[in-house]
Amino acid sequence: MTIPKANYHTHSLYCDGKEPLESYVRAAETRHFEQLGFSSHAPVPFENDFGITLEQIPAYCAEIEHLKQNTNVQLLKALECDFIPGMSTPFRQFKEQFQLDYIIGGVHLVRPPHRDGLWFIDGSKREIYDDGLRNLFDGNVQQAVTTFWEQTFEMLETEQMDVIAHFDKIKMHNQHRFFQEDEKWYRILAEKALQLIKNHDIVIEINTRGIYKGRCDAFYPSTELLTKACQMDIPVIISSDAHKSDELDLLFHEAVTELQRCGYGNLVSFDPVQKRFV
Ligand SMILES: [Zn+2]
Ligand SMILES: [Zn+2]
Repeated sequence: MTIPKANYHTHSLYCDGKEPLESYVRAAETRHFEQLGFSSHAPVPFENDFGITLEQIPAYCAEIEHLKQNTNVQLLKALECDFIPGMSTPFRQFKEQFQLDYIIGGVHLVRPPHRDGLWFIDGSKREIYDDGLRNLFDGNVQQAVTTFWEQTFEMLETEQMDVIAHFDKIKMHNQHRFFQEDEKWYRILAEKALQLIKNHDIVIEINTRGIYKGRCDAFYPSTELLTKACQMDIPVIISSDAHKSDELDLLFHEAVTELQRCGYGNLVSFDPVQKRFV
């Protein structure tokens, strides 16, 4: 397996990324990339500082189209859509309305079944994770983590996406404190999610961001789950989930080594003619 000449998971100033689109295009050229996919966080139905707004999406798409004229790197238009039960816009709607190349689906905000509020499991602050666990789930870790996985199941069953983002993000702020990934109940939930990914023909990403940001000691997904995904023949891409242009291919080399250790022999890439990963 060679190091991929592409990143499909990239955030810019249109959402919570730190640089304009063009910076990433130049960085992709320097790295001799063949493809670069932009994936701003999609709008969610409440005030926030991490997502693109619905009003900004046409400008985002137009800027990508404009940048295409001045580069040899194939640029792709995508969104990273957040699934929040009963709240988020159907992914398909964004894809059709803005003629996107693909959709990355993910869970960053967990909605407790019988309480108002959302548990933010991402971001840089572990305290927010811990507070949510305490205030929204009364500290019941198994119930909270199960809710994350059930929300993931619902996303996989009801939404249309091409790639699932950072499969086991729920482990990031846990840092082996509240639950262990080899506990049986956890494995059963995670493996059920893999089965749904398989059934719905979705691509998984090995996401390097948790490690290079120092927030996690493993890739998403962890070795055991990635090995299982390989045995199930689930296609994989390598993503840096870049929020800065110099993050575009961070730890790609290590990700290749990890994928090979898990049994993977090849990666998929986006075919612009078929409009899917092959
Ligand atoms: Zn994400
Ligand atoms: Zn992302």
